[in-house]
Amino acid sequence: MSYQENNTVKLKLAIQKSGRLYDDSIKLLKECGIDVNNGMNKLKADATNFPLEVFFLRDDDIPQYVQDGVADIGFVGENVVYEKNKKVVLSEKLGFGKCRLSIATQRNEAYTNVTYLQGKKIATSYPVILADFLRKNNIQAEVHEISGSVEIAPGIGLADAICDLVSSGSTLFMNGLKEAEVILQSQAVLIKNNALTAEKQQLLDRLIFRIESVKRAKNNKYVLLNAPNDNLQQIISLLPGMKSPTVLPLAEKGWSSVHSVLNENDFWDIIEQLKSAGAQGILVVPIEKMII
Ligand code: ATP
Ligand code: ZN
Repeated sequence: MSYQENNTVKLKLAIQKSGRLYDDSIKLLKECGIDVNNGMNKLKADATNFPLEVFFLRDDDIPQYVQDGVADIGFVGENVVYEKNKKVVLSEKLGFGKCRLSIATQRNEAYTNVTYLQGKKIATSYPVILADFLRKNNIQAEVHEISGSVEIAPGIGLADAICDLVSSGSTLFMNGLKEAEVILQSQAVLIKNNALTAEKQQLLDRLIFRIESVKRAKNNKYVLLNAPNDNLQQIISLLPGMKSPTVLPLAEKGWSSVHSVLNENDFWDIIEQLKSAGAQGILVVPIEKMII
């Protein structure tokens, strides 16, 4: 049944139908409490518990569909968003699909800076982003667009360098290449059509509220520890918590149990300081959702 028939507006989301972003896209929806019944090779599916319809597409096509309003929103790599250069709004970073778009040269070449690329031939699937980078750096180079297996181009004499996505660098290594220049840091993002109706924007706000709670939870850990009462104030001062830490007396006299939330970034620093302040039995627990 379409939303016109049952009179409920649905948000139309485009995600990659298979590939590196598929699993994490479905996982993020699930963590937001949204289940999608996607049978094999289906083009679209309804969410069972949120007014959402999911389209499964090639990632390269997602910005166009969102620009045209065929989909209201999409999950896609920033690299694809910038390369396709469509009129869409970049609304939220999603925290998965992290990679970088880099220039790589043959390992034995002496690369010192971008001037190395002057007059060279560079193979890429990202001609728009690469041309922009070269223009900004006043480099004249020949851009050779190929759609896949870019990393083999230098080895077969097709190009002097490549511009391609890298995550671990192992593909470059296996092909005798080295990463010379990072030109874009990328991750999956939520893009939206730039003329959403108020009703759809409201649905999107609900979805973003959930996405942010999931992302926040991933960046934080719940910490429980035992603290000697003599050092309680010092230990509390190390633990900001969401408001302030919870402190409960232990059965053993002179000791308290302290519960708090710690950010992933300063996690180890604070754990070390807690230990030197006399904290014991420190437990660290993942958080599933964090609503502030
Ligand atoms: P499609 O069939 O949908 O066109 P694709 O082959 O273009 O798929 P994938 O290789 O599945 O795409 O990559 C999808 C996205 O995953 C990339 O555009 C990028 O944003 C992200 N990604 C993360 N890490 C990497 C990596 N190491 N190599 C390539 N892409 C990566
Ligand atoms: Zn693609």
